[in-house]
Amino acid sequence: MQLPILSYGHSVLREQCHDIDSGYPELTKLIENMWETMYGANGCGLAAPQVNVPVRLFLVDSKTTYDKMDDRSREDYFAANDTGIIETFINAAIIDESEEVWTDEEGCLSIPALAEPITRPWSITMEYFNREFIRQTKTFYGTTARMIQHEYDHTERVLYLDHLKPLKRKLLQGKLEKISKGLVKAKYPMKFAK
Ligand SMILES: [Zn+2]
Repeated sequence: MQLPILSYGHSVLREQCHDIDSGYPELTKLIENMWETMYGANGCGLAAPQVNVPVRLFLVDSKTTYDKMDDRSREDYFAANDTGIIETFINAAIIDESEEVWTDEEGCLSIPALAEPITRPWSITMEYFNREFIRQTKTFYGTTARMIQHEYDHTERVLYLDHLKPLKRKLLQGKLEKISKGLVKAKYPMKFAK
């Protein structure tokens, strides 16, 4: 079932997300609905708070992005041997990050029709549980690491625009106000803040 995505300004996007265990009610259904919602909105990542569930759960698909890229772009955006991931992250924590940073444009399903350049570490090491609730420790790079950091941020009540300089954010205020009121149309179901 495709779920409505909360828009910028909705209070749940700023709520503290809590850890879950394998007994979380209807977890499999929630994860399935989140994949359907993400693909239905043409997204490459989705976090549970974006569908009104403030728990530490998110999805990332960097494989579709990889598959669409030409060889030259792959060299710039993906590390060698990384062909993208399709992964569910539960109770994820960043345990290490590279000093090396890079900047690329990001967008967010909760903030339609907007994209801004964001600087983030090139690589991160994550500890998390996968969909089968098996503990994982893995290092990710490039676009895959960027998508993970963006979604992880959602579970920490952080939106990618929070990484912009205050002046830049101020300039976007009018647009963000429109988004929160539902005046910017998305091609997928949304739930608006106001
Ligand atoms: Zn987002």
